[in-house]
Amino acid sequence: MAPLYIALVHYPVLNRMGDTIASAITNLDLHDLARSCCTYGVPVCYIVTPLRDQQALAHRLTSHWIDGKGGEILPERREALKILKVVETISSAGEDIFEKTGKRPIVWASTARKEPGALAHARARFLLEDEDRPFLLLFGTGWGLAPAVFEETDGVLDPIPGINGYNHLSVRSAVSILMDRLLGDRDALE
Ligand code: SAM
Repeated sequence: MAPLYIALVHYPVLNRMGDTIASAITNLDLHDLARSCCTYGVPVCYIVTPLRDQQALAHRLTSHWIDGKGGEILPERREALKILKVVETISSAGEDIFEKTGKRPIVWASTARKEPGALAHARARFLLEDEDRPFLLLFGTGWGLAPAVFEETDGVLDPIPGINGYNHLSVRSAVSILMDRLLGDRDALE
């Protein structure tokens, strides 16, 4: 199985007016993504933000849990938060994966919209099992990833469809559901 890396992108994303912006980091996103990634064996979850104050905030949060009092009280949370890595851009995440694995990642984007040519989850799972390159799956914040991001990726995944037309999930739910579809133990369903 190829390693699947995750990135939570805070820039470039859209705001509700459709402008490209840098969104703010959310404490809950960092905790929940770290815990989900740890559960599903994701090697690194990148927190992408070019804003220095937001990088500092993310470092302050993680160091409380990794080196500070938080980790002493809840050692398993320390374990999870070690998975997070703050980087400036999506490209820096790709560079970091290259340094770790010697291979450039195949980059996929996620969205709640159905895009032409999007990859079915079963196909994405097959590629993860078949390829010997790492993968990087991008998730948006704000109102989702900016169009420029989709132009740069190697593919986009089908949305999680929901069952009655509504499918606008929090990023935390979307990450967990997609990880279970792509990496989860199928035998556990039987
Ligand atoms: N602040 C918001 C929150 O978490 O409530 C962030 C919303 S942002 C648009 C949610 C991100 O989760 C999307 O950019 C996408 O990456 C992913 N996402 C949400 N719903 C999805 C769906 N149905 N299928 C696939 N990905 C989805």
